[in-house]
Amino acid sequence: MTTKATGIDLDQYRVRPGRRVHLDRWPTRVPHLYGSKKDYSRRIEAQVQALADLQQVLYADNRYAVLLILQAMDAAGKDGTIRHVMSGVNPQGVQVFSFKHPSASELDHDFLWRTSQCLPERGRIGIFNRSYYEEVLVVRVHPEILAAQALPPEALAKGRIWKDRFRSIVDHEAHLDRNGTRVVKIFLHLSRDEQRERFLARIDEPDKNWKFSEGDVAERQHWDSYRRAYEDCLASTSTAHAPWYVVPADDKENARLIASEVLVATLRGLDLRYPTVSPARRRELQALRRRLQDD
Ligand code: ATP
Ligand code: MG
Repeated sequence: MTTKATGIDLDQYRVRPGRRVHLDRWPTRVPHLYGSKKDYSRRIEAQVQALADLQQVLYADNRYAVLLILQAMDAAGKDGTIRHVMSGVNPQGVQVFSFKHPSASELDHDFLWRTSQCLPERGRIGIFNRSYYEEVLVVRVHPEILAAQALPPEALAKGRIWKDRFRSIVDHEAHLDRNGTRVVKIFLHLSRDEQRERFLARIDEPDKNWKFSEGDVAERQHWDSYRRAYEDCLASTSTAHAPWYVVPADDKENARLIASEVLVATLRGLDLRYPTVSPARRRELQALRRRLQDD
């Protein structure tokens, strides 16, 4: 799937259903997809415009919704990607939700409950900044979080919890797809070195101090556990109807161009059209027009 306008071939970033994933074989950096900074600005603006146009038809068509899920390690650029890629889209057509540690009430429900209430309406693009995928990532890396979820013993028996959760997720996404919500998922793939550089910048540059969190540095110690959890997750939940894209994230501009292309390609893949009116309705409209004119 290559779009002429951008020349970005998304196939290389898509996780094939059922294939094992070794993240060290997936690049965190690829050759620049743009020339100068100016060229980047031109390209991203074109993407943003394409998205804005497509979103308008999505809205008018009012049959489909698109859900983009973003997952990544800290400082991989989720926020910046959302800001830059969605900047030109009508705010009424986009719904962004960020998911942090669940509340007590959320923990009293099954793990798909809280995000279900935030799914995009028909005609809208929904963005999940983190998602139910945290339930097979951070929760897997930190067994104490799972222990606090008060699950019945059979849910925890025989170590099948992760397989069961993957199945729930795949079924859930298939259900959404059958009902008109297209799901696409992006893992912003950052290298450990680049994460260190970005943390250092958050300490060194006063304007970035607010972004720095000690907790993020502590989480970095679990890098390998996260990598293994991501690998299993990507391999187990990338499907034809809800694919994962592993987007190289060491270069923010590249990542934004690729992420925008994932959305543009998804929208282009839908059979979107402006609703047309029947000849009878058009005659009615013409009659109303004449009345208004003579009014
Ligand atoms: P930023 O740091 O850029 O503001 P963020 O997404 O990292 O964005 P934080 O408030 O720093 O936001 O972190 C949210 C935390 O909540 C993450 O560590 C994430 O793993 C955690 N979290 C999200 N969902 C769950 C969940 N279902 N169970 C436990 N922890 C979760
Ligand atoms: Mg954070």
